[in-house]
Amino acid sequence: MRRRTFLTTSALALCGASLRAAAMESSALRTFDSSRNRHPVHFAPVHVSFDRILRTTVGLRPHRDSGFVLKAEPLGEKTVIHNYGHGGAGMSLAWGTGAIAADMALKHKTRRAAVLGCGSPGLTAARQLQRRGFAVTIYAKTVPPETTSNMSLAAFTPTSGLVDASRRTPAWDKQFRKATDISYRQLQQLVGRGYGVYWIDQFTATDEPPDALADRPDDGGLLSDILRSSREREILGPGEHPFPTMFAIRTPTLSIEPRLYLDRLVADFRKAGGRIVIRTFDAPQDLLSVPESLIVNCTGLGSATLFNDPELVPVKGQLSLLVPQPEVRYRVSARLDEGEGMTTSVSMNPRSDGIVIGDLQERGSWSLDPSDDVRDRNIVAAMQFFNAMRIAD
Ligand SMILES: Cc1cc2nc3c(=O)[nH]c(=O)nc-3n(C[C@H](O)[C@H](O)[C@H](O)COP(=O)(O)OP(=O)(O)OC[C@H]3O[C@@H](n4cnc5c(N)ncnc54)[C@H](O)[C@@H]3O)c2cc1C
Repeated sequence: MRRRTFLTTSALALCGASLRAAAMESSALRTFDSSRNRHPVHFAPVHVSFDRILRTTVGLRPHRDSGFVLKAEPLGEKTVIHNYGHGGAGMSLAWGTGAIAADMALKHKTRRAAVLGCGSPGLTAARQLQRRGFAVTIYAKTVPPETTSNMSLAAFTPTSGLVDASRRTPAWDKQFRKATDISYRQLQQLVGRGYGVYWIDQFTATDEPPDALADRPDDGGLLSDILRSSREREILGPGEHPFPTMFAIRTPTLSIEPRLYLDRLVADFRKAGGRIVIRTFDAPQDLLSVPESLIVNCTGLGSATLFNDPELVPVKGQLSLLVPQPEVRYRVSARLDEGEGMTTSVSMNPRSDGIVIGDLQERGSWSLDPSDDVRDRNIVAAMQFFNAMRIAD
């Protein structure tokens, strides 16, 4: 669809949302009571327009309905420890799954290991091995910035797109809980140390009444209390926030800038004596040629063909980056009701490399091409949302 046509129809389609927003302006948005804030948040306006788009990126999340694979198996005389299938949670969980994989490695005599893959799971598994005294070589087809991990948002979202509740097992749940605990602690240790890991207030703007939101299980019972995003949340009512919705839920969120984070992990890995070899493996037999007898497989979607895992399915994500605005220091997501069962999603995340708009969860798509329609829909929805937002004086 041509942009002008799209904009016209989208503007009409979103008219309902903006009218509702305008109607609410007189009540919900009139006064913003910053004195009730527990943490000061500067609600700087977000400038959204097509001419501010720097680039649109696509990443394919490696999803398995039964969750990540974390187990050892023999391959000829070698041992492969699988650590893949992190879905939409590979930035969140990797330190933990890497630690579990490295502990499995300790059961072997050798202290030399190969890690396949150089995204977040590969790099963190490699660091966990190094911390346990292993000499590690990473073999990968691509390295940062050319990995799926570079295309993520990324926040600490340990359950995101990870597992189908009906496919969970007690053994998998146990691994998940251990991995999540380790990762959460590790990521907190990196805050303020140049890794691009930081805390930021996330606001979920919504018209749903707080009663409907109270105690909603957001993780299928997987997370311990300390990890529930609802634990620290604060519900702001009309007049207490600037968003064009009745309510806003504030949740402190641990976040990661993929670009800074992955580069730093590469630097740490090298500093600890790690080597990186650029190499593509097409079949398990190719692995027999690496000198290491212990191999940790962190190839993500690559395992679909390399290890013939038919359960792996891509979930396509797409983000548009707009000109950076360092003054914007809050995240927002919203689902706007347009009537007649239609909703529009808005997602905005400020990073040093740009204002990140949009998201997408398209299961089964292997296409790395950005969709113009998805981009336009995300940008128009964000334009409507931020134009209707009232900024405090
Ligand atoms: C839009 C989007 C938003 C996201 N947001 C979040 C978020 O907020 N929080 C979160 O935790 N996660 C998020 N994710 C998910 C996260 O990015 C993934 O879970 C993670 O990047 C998966 O890492 P990976 O190692 O499986 O893949 P990659 O990062 O791609 O790494 C795989 C590595 O294996 C190598 N490889 C693959 N096949 C072969 C082969 N045959 N031979 C040699 N090397 C091979 C690749 O070259 C690469 O180095 C998001 C993802 C997307 C797309």
